[in-house]
Amino acid sequence: MSALTHLTAATELPAGLLLAGGLLLGLLFGSFLNVVVWRLPRGESVAWPGSRCPACGHAVRPRDNLPLLGWLLLRGRCRDCAAPISPRYPLVELAGGLAAVAALLAAPSPAAAAAALLLLLALIAVFLIDLDHRLILDVITLPGVALGLLLCPLLGTARLDALLGAAGGWLVLEGVRLGYRRWRGFDGLGGGDVKLAAMLGAWLGWQGVLLTFLLGSLVGALVGLALTARGRAGRLTALPYGVFLAPAAAAIVFWGRAAWSWYLGL
Ligand SMILES: [Zn+2]
Repeated sequence: MSALTHLTAATELPAGLLLAGGLLLGLLFGSFLNVVVWRLPRGESVAWPGSRCPACGHAVRPRDNLPLLGWLLLRGRCRDCAAPISPRYPLVELAGGLAAVAALLAAPSPAAAAAALLLLLALIAVFLIDLDHRLILDVITLPGVALGLLLCPLLGTARLDALLGAAGGWLVLEGVRLGYRRWRGFDGLGGGDVKLAAMLGAWLGWQGVLLTFLLGSLVGALVGLALTARGRAGRLTALPYGVFLAPAAAAIVFWGRAAWSWYLGL
């Protein structure tokens, strides 16, 4: 049974209406993610002031600030100065909406759906900030470790597996980081990646973080090869690992159990 079945039973509302509500809530969270991803790495408050056009500085009107619709109605341009607004903003809002719907459809209870959504939103923020700044912020990963250890049973992760996952994820990546530094004489992996691994272990258990490493490294290697083949990556170009770990972890939230059974069957 998914969280949606529980909610339809408890509220006697049709599934379509609840999904639409989830989508709307997710879009709003996505809109907030855009603020978080822009401001957190710059050390600005995420609560104040309201959004402004980065080109002309005019405050964004509330009606233009509506998730998805605002961008569509403005046709991707600022109302004041007509500067183009990146389609990334509505896409991140959409990602938040889809994450909420997916969590409602997959999770066994409303609380589990909320926990899964919380993790997915954090992963989207980690992905985008690492992409933009090559930075994984402690302000996301450290509370992420604590919340993961607290909420992991909601995602079906046993508390012991979560403890082993957090400690193991941290140890493995810290080992890789120090080993690489000794071998090459410079850092190939940041301390942020190590703390992200601990956070993923806390939520997904040691099995989940292992699968995330495998999937993230595979996709990272393929992207690295593709960039090298096109001459866009030198040998010294370090790929931001969080950019690959975060989406891999999101996939493991949904398909981790099936993937683990398959992996054990090999
Ligand atoms: Zn403007």
